[in-house]
Amino acid sequence: MNAAIEKHIRFVLEDDSELMSAALTGDLDEENKRMNRELIKRHEAILAKLDNGKTLSQEDLQVIRDANEIYLNDAANLNGHHRQAVKLDRWLDHMMELDKDKAMQILEQWLDKDARTPARVYRALHTLWEEATPNDVVDEAAFDDKGQCFKCGSRVSFADVTDTVVFVGDEIVKRYDGDITNRNCVRCNHPKQYCDFAHYDDNDGDGGSPASEANRHQSGARRC
Ligand SMILES: [Zn+2]
Repeated sequence: MNAAIEKHIRFVLEDDSELMSAALTGDLDEENKRMNRELIKRHEAILAKLDNGKTLSQEDLQVIRDANEIYLNDAANLNGHHRQAVKLDRWLDHMMELDKDKAMQILEQWLDKDARTPARVYRALHTLWEEATPNDVVDEAAFDDKGQCFKCGSRVSFADVTDTVVFVGDEIVKRYDGDITNRNCVRCNHPKQYCDFAHYDDNDGDGGSPASEANRHQSGARRC
């Protein structure tokens, strides 16, 4: 780490701790006093890491960023240290991990600054965003209104059901039936276990649609 950066980190942490210690003797409420004490401890832990040449964690860097903010925002340099604060902020930009939301926000913000940014650049950005978003975030319906899997036509599914039960002592006195969540087709997702339940699909009496009959026939061959 650059010596000037380290010096400024020490400065903002010690300065912030000093302010918070001073506030502890004032008429701050207990909750705020507790938070101040906790933050002072965190600052001390970070300073100890610097003393021992240890690597700072992402959480440490966030604490440093928060402490630096007052000097970063002081563009008129009333308190001094503004130039050092800007340097530290840039250094933090390099060191801190970005999550997808933040990355998207930064890119859009910079693209917005240039009126000539073509629409297809935004579209490319959103395409990348969608690629990066795990599939399970946007869940499509997987079963039709008869409870048949859209993919294979099976009616057998594993589902988590969350019931709320009322206990009096050790005894359950009432049960509120819960919602079905996380429902998965057994044939598609747990083919090995499907053998135990395949007979439910064989003799259903609902006379399903021709399409699902075809599905059932087709997938019967690769059943167990
Ligand atoms: Zn299925």
